[in-house]
Amino acid sequence: MRTFVGIGAILALLLVGYALYANGTSSSDDHDSDIGIIESTSGSISPAPTMPIEATNGAITDDVSDQGGPDSSDQRCFEAASADDSALAGKTIIVDPGHGGEDLGTVNNQFGLHESDLVLSISEYLRDMLTASGANVCMTRVQDTYIELAARADFANEQNGDAFVSVHLNSLPDPSESYTMTMWGNEAKDRFLAETMLDVLRYEMAIPQYHNNEPNPTNPDVYILKSLDSHMLKSADMPAVLVEATFLSAAWEAQAFQDGIDDGSHWREVQIAEAVHTGLTEYYEAFQ
Ligand SMILES: [Zn+2]
Repeated sequence: MRTFVGIGAILALLLVGYALYANGTSSSDDHDSDIGIIESTSGSISPAPTMPIEATNGAITDDVSDQGGPDSSDQRCFEAASADDSALAGKTIIVDPGHGGEDLGTVNNQFGLHESDLVLSISEYLRDMLTASGANVCMTRVQDTYIELAARADFANEQNGDAFVSVHLNSLPDPSESYTMTMWGNEAKDRFLAETMLDVLRYEMAIPQYHNNEPNPTNPDVYILKSLDSHMLKSADMPAVLVEATFLSAAWEAQAFQDGIDDGSHWREVQIAEAVHTGLTEYYEAFQ
C-alpha cells in the first residue's frame, strides 16, 4: 500500500510537472512573450537613410504550381488593380495572416472569436486596399490552414517581396488592457518599418469611440516596439514586421469585432487593414 501511495505521488508530480511544461510551451507563442518591455516611447521617427530599398519592377513570378492558377481558390498572389500614384505602386507586399488551421492563435472564449479567422479577414481587406493602391500582394495563406513559419519567409523570398507584414492580435488576462505592439527581427532591415507601423497603429486603433458605454481600451500612450528573435522575420529578405494590432482579449475589442461580423460591415477588421495600409504607405513615402 505504501508503495502504491509512493508511486501515485511520483506520478502526480510528473503530471503536474508536465502540465506546467506544456502550459509554458503552449503560451510561448511566436509573438506573445515579453509583454511589458517598452523599448521605445519616443515620438518622432525619422527614416534610416542607410536602409537600402530596392527598386522593384512589380513583376510577380508566374509559378502556378506554388500559387495555384488564376481561378484557383488557392491563389496567393494578386496583381495591382491600378497604376496608382501611391508610394505603394509597383511594390510587392507579402501579407502574412498569422496562425491558421489547428493553430487558432488567441481565442476570446466569451465571443468564440479566433485570432486565426480575424487576421485572415483583416489580411483580405488589406490585400484589396494594397492592390487598389497599385501594389502587388502575395499572401502566405488564403485559407484556414497552417503554414510553417519558415515556409512563410521562404514564400516571401520566392515572391521577391518588398515588405513583409505579419498580422496578429494579442492577448492578456486583463480584459480591460489593450495597446498596439510591433516587432522587428533584424534591426537594420526591419526596425524602421516596425516603428512607422507602430506610429500609425497606436493612434488608429485607439479611436475615441464608445461601445455599450465602455471606452475603447486601446491606449495610444502605451505601446511596445520590440525585437523578436524570429527566424521568420530575420530570414525574410526584405523589411519585415510582426504587427499585434490590438488585443482580442479586451472586452470592448472583441465586442467591436463581433458587432462588425453581426452587421456584416466587419468595420473593425477594415479599420485595422486601413491602418496597416497607411503604415505601409507612410513607410514608402519616407523614402521618396
Ligand atoms: Zn498571433
